[in-house]
Amino acid sequence: MHHSNRPYPMEDLSGPEEFFCQLADLEAEFQRPPHRRPVRKKTLLAGALAGLTGLSVLGAVAASTCTLCYAVSSQGDPPLAYVQGELAYTQAVSQVEEQVSQILHTEYNYPEETQVALAIAPKESVQSAEELTASLMETVPQVQEAWVLTVDGVAAGACSTQEEVEQALTLVKEGYSNQNTKSVTVCNEIDIHLDYLPAEDDLYDAETLAGALMLPTEEEEEPLLTVETVEEVTYTQSIPAPTQEQADPTLLLNQRETMQEGTDGLEERTDRVTRRCGVETSRENLSVDVLTEPIPQRIAVGTAQGVEAARGRFLWPTIGQITSPFGYRTIFGSTSFHRGLDIANVTGTDILASAGGTVTWAGAKGTYGNLIILDHGNGFTTYYAHCSQLLVTEGDTVSQGEKIALMGSTGRSTGSHLHFEVRWQDDLLDPQKCLP
Ligand SMILES: [Zn+2]
Repeated sequence: MHHSNRPYPMEDLSGPEEFFCQLADLEAEFQRPPHRRPVRKKTLLAGALAGLTGLSVLGAVAASTCTLCYAVSSQGDPPLAYVQGELAYTQAVSQVEEQVSQILHTEYNYPEETQVALAIAPKESVQSAEELTASLMETVPQVQEAWVLTVDGVAAGACSTQEEVEQALTLVKEGYSNQNTKSVTVCNEIDIHLDYLPAEDDLYDAETLAGALMLPTEEEEEPLLTVETVEEVTYTQSIPAPTQEQADPTLLLNQRETMQEGTDGLEERTDRVTRRCGVETSRENLSVDVLTEPIPQRIAVGTAQGVEAARGRFLWPTIGQITSPFGYRTIFGSTSFHRGLDIANVTGTDILASAGGTVTWAGAKGTYGNLIILDHGNGFTTYYAHCSQLLVTEGDTVSQGEKIALMGSTGRSTGSHLHFEVRWQDDLLDPQKCLP
């Protein structure tokens, strides 16, 4: 009992005799940690011998390539690993229990069927506590080892191989690219590392992981992985025909007439387009090449107002003698303004529509007597006063020269005559200046 209170010192063994001698000592010394089920000596010895079975004991030991150690194994299975001392085993078990508990979020105990037994093994196969932890982790069915992708520190998914994760990133980049793409940049901090996950977690294949990386996350509008692409796109675009306006005194104020139809031109543009996850964030024009110049649309815009605008529109409404022109006049020393043109003739003389239009008044109206008002559009109206008889009614449409009334002397009148007014936008015009 010369090794009673410390792990067995691992020494190279010089021969099989010494090995079996030391084995006898070890059998007495070996104990499981107090919190574990004690290993009966028979099991220990059986384990040790099982560990030896596969080895050419004599040859291996004689060559001094083997060492005495502990074999870790499940009951009946070949050894999982070899360690120098039992301390390494208990440390590894604690590590595994801690790690698995963290991964599963529930307390986990390493199964007690796993045992440690004396063995002889090649020196290079003896593992440290850390290496044994990894070996034991592989035996825990509740966890799996996988290549985890993190994006800015957030786990995005896991695949069984590193190549699949890298392939997924390539697929995402390709997904955001097209034949115009000049550069593709992943904007996030990316990490790919081997880690343990709950066994029930699904591992992705490259396509599925790529799809997940391109989907918008629930919290954000953007996908977890931000990929910026820069494209150079060339396209043709029409150049709208410009409008050229020119003043035209032969047209009524603001009346528009197209003199020449315009034709749109065509240009070829090249833009540099930056997108984040396919969504355009900025665009810069690199070049514009005019393929066809546009032909401007030319529009004449009327400027004619009042008398100028009336020219050519009106015909004389009757025949007779002009007895009072438009404007200021002096009768018996007092000045007054005459709003129209008086044309005298016998009662019953025809009164004609000076221009085509709509009858907006046909009836007696104060000093006008029997009055007809015609609306000619474009702001023009004409008044026909003192009539003896009206031949049209309100709402009638009349054409130029159509007989609408007969001359008389109704209202304030001193004899049979037509009082004729021409108005433009309710301004009184001199009828004589409007007539041919
Ligand atoms: Zn008058």
